[in-house]
Amino acid sequence: MERYSQIKNKIKREIVLLKSAPCIWSKCTFCDYIEDNSTCKEEIIHINNEVLEKVTGEYGILEVIDSASIFELPQETLKKIKTIIEEKKIHTLFVESHWLYHSRIHEIRDYFGIKVIVKIGVETFDDEFRNGVLNKNAHFSSVKELKKYFDSPCLMVGIQGQTKEMIDNDMNILQTYFEYGTISIYRNNSTIIKRDNQLVCWFLDKYSYLIDDPRYDFLYDPTDFGVGD
Ligand code: SF4
Repeated sequence: MERYSQIKNKIKREIVLLKSAPCIWSKCTFCDYIEDNSTCKEEIIHINNEVLEKVTGEYGILEVIDSASIFELPQETLKKIKTIIEEKKIHTLFVESHWLYHSRIHEIRDYFGIKVIVKIGVETFDDEFRNGVLNKNAHFSSVKELKKYFDSPCLMVGIQGQTKEMIDNDMNILQTYFEYGTISIYRNNSTIIKRDNQLVCWFLDKYSYLIDDPRYDFLYDPTDFGVGD
C-alpha cells in the first residue's frame, strides 16, 4: 500500500493516505476501501507517524486523506499533522469528510488555522442515484447548502445506472459553482456496483477539456494520485 505521493499535474502538492478508525458510515454500496480502516489505535498512530515524516513541505500544500473522514483520525495523528504543518511551513491543507460531519467542519478549519480545502464525496448531485443506489447517506438540500461547509465535491463517472443527463448536470454544477473538485472514473472493485464502459467512453470524449482543467483533479484510476493499491 503506497501512502505518500506528490501530485504534480494540477495543484502541486504532497498527499498522504493515512490509516483511520472505521468510516462513520461504512455503507456506501460501491466502497471496499474501508478495508483499510483499523480499530487498533496504536497501529494507526504508528503507521501515520511514519507516513507523515515523509512530508517535506516542498509545495507548501498538503493533502491528507484516509479511507474515511478526517474526523476518524485519532487526536494523536491530528496533532502530528499540525506539527508537520508548522515545521514544514505548509499554508494549505486538503482534507476530506462525509456529509454526516457537516456541522463539525468548522472544528477542522479552526484547529489547523491555515487555508483548509474540504473535499466531500458527493459522487453525483442526482439525489436518487447518490442516496438510493450508491447509499451515500449525504442528504443536503441544495448546492448552496453543501457550499456552506464544503469546498470541493468528488464526483464519480461511469457507473451502471448513471445517465448522460446526470453526468452533464454534475459537470455543469461543478464548473458553475466550484473552484475545486475531483472527477473519478469508476473502477470495478469487489462490490456489486459495476462500471459502464460505454458511459466512460462518452465522458472521455465529451469532457476531455475538463480532464485538463487545472481546477479539477481527474482520476482515471483510483490510484492516479500515487497512493492506495
Ligand atoms: S463514506 Fe467514503 S469511506 Fe465511508 S463507506 Fe462511503 S465511500 Fe466508503
